Amino acid sequence: MRRATIWDIRRFPEDAAARVASGTAGGYHAGMNTSPTRLLIHGASGRMGQALLRLAGTEPGPYQVVAAVTRRTPSPRVVDGVPHFAASELAGVPAFDVAIDFSLPEGFDPVLALCVERKAALVSGTTGISATQQQALSVAAAAIPLVWATNFSLGVAVLAEIVERASAALPGWDVDVVESHHVHKKDAPSGTALTLGQAAGSAGAQVHYASLRAGDIVGEHTVQFAGLGERIELTHRATHRDIFARGALHVASRLQGRAAGAYQVRDLLD
Ligand code: NAD
Repeated sequence: MRRATIWDIRRFPEDAAARVASGTAGGYHAGMNTSPTRLLIHGASGRMGQALLRLAGTEPGPYQVVAAVTRRTPSPRVVDGVPHFAASELAGVPAFDVAIDFSLPEGFDPVLALCVERKAALVSGTTGISATQQQALSVAAAAIPLVWATNFSLGVAVLAEIVERASAALPGWDVDVVESHHVHKKDAPSGTALTLGQAAGSAGAQVHYASLRAGDIVGEHTVQFAGLGERIELTHRATHRDIFARGALHVASRLQGRAAGAYQVRDLLD
């Protein structure tokens, strides 16, 4: 068993070389725009904003951050060549293709309005937005392409698809979603657990939830399907918050140039 694992690892460089030769390495996809996607990072001083600024320079895209927006007046005004703006200066930011917003609900309305006004796409991971803000998103989707999601991990998007498939194929099985997070997380079940539960219940199953809060767990979600004499457990484990920033960047590059509409992360995986 271990030998098979080692063989797989050693084969990887050959796979990588083949993917580079065929132009499919680094997430490249057919028809992908090779001119940089011009990004506005909203919530730039936060944990997610900082990860986005750091990863925009290294993730395949390519990306060009043209503006970083923070709640208060930034100092210094330019960091690594990226101009920084206060939230009150939003109207004056330069032209951009996609705004990536990881801020707070009170910062959400202005960035949504700006994207509609500029006819730019919006990728938002801001959680806790109100029903009125959800409604505003639906209205905006008639004018611009946008994604709002509680989890930008590409792995979770794939898991949701697998869960939906399993749910359809296993009518009558018991379905449970078990999630674990660090002790500081207040909401339970997590937004991701609810999204997975929705996928798990799409074929009519009654889904139950269990939440654990312990240590510094970044995020773990297991969807369990239990039948008579057998059980399936589908698990996603997040070990680093960068996965959300990487996912948001990936989605931003796929969203640019699309027709107006509300997309999900899973619509933009390729
Ligand atoms: P954080 O507290 O570290 O950062 C919040 C940022 O928002 C700060 O830069 C702050 O200045 C900015 N901000 C606050 N009010 C603002 C306003 N009115 N206008 C402009 N900017 C404003 O938080 P974080 O950990 O970076 O998370 C940010 C958001 O993203 C939260 O809602 C969090 O729940 C969410 N989040 C979503 C995902 C996902 O995958 N969807 C992943 C991680 C975090």
